[in-house]
Amino acid sequence: MTGLPSGLPAGFGLPGRSFRGNLHTHSNRSDGAFPPADTVQVYRNAGYDFVAVTGHFRPEFGYPITDTRDLRTADFTTLIGAELHAPRAEAGQSWHIVAVGLPRSWHFADVLLDRGHRLTAYAADDAPLQPQDPLPCQAWVQVRAESLTPEALLAALKSGHFYSSTGPEFHDVRVEGDQIVVRCSPVTKILLTGGHPGAEVAEGGNLTEHAFPLALFQGRHCRLTIEDPTGARAWTNPIHLPEL
Ligand SMILES: [Zn+2]
Repeated sequence: MTGLPSGLPAGFGLPGRSFRGNLHTHSNRSDGAFPPADTVQVYRNAGYDFVAVTGHFRPEFGYPITDTRDLRTADFTTLIGAELHAPRAEAGQSWHIVAVGLPRSWHFADVLLDRGHRLTAYAADDAPLQPQDPLPCQAWVQVRAESLTPEALLAALKSGHFYSSTGPEFHDVRVEGDQIVVRCSPVTKILLTGGHPGAEVAEGGNLTEHAFPLALFQGRHCRLTIEDPTGARAWTNPIHLPEL
């Protein structure tokens, strides 16, 4: 995905509200356990606002693009998707770009970002919901959009107006002058990292707010990560900063 948040990382401060969604899941149209309607219901029951059923776009499954439009209601919507597989790419064989759970290292993304690619990354379950699979509803995106429609959600995603989480919540993120100010649910660690070998870190028992200087990251990019006592994390997209 391209697009970037600038002065309003993750879309905080924009009109609308925050919607929770899973952008990567599987139904029995490819290797998932349940029909699309039942797959979607798992997320609905868990309080999500939207889901994308992303079947493997491969010949053995008949190249499915799962039509979930009839599962949309006033308070829940779906995005149409598929999991595409590149047969061969510069960086390796048959790979697909997905974030499963929370990345422990941003190295690869940071290399691409330093080369000038404006990438965003998101968390998702990638849940076929088979008995042997991990539990669903463990990783999601919070999208800031004006309304719960596929059009508004896709526009917000392309603009980078979202953050990803496996637990904690960002309440606000703002660039104010030469600082970045973050407010969040109670966490034990707040990190500011990115295209610089150094990092800014705040640690404590019950952090809900912090302001970091941005000096390390001027002319480059940075991102915020928060971590709660269980080790669950949430993180913003890269925030690209001008040279001072
Ligand atoms: Zn998948």
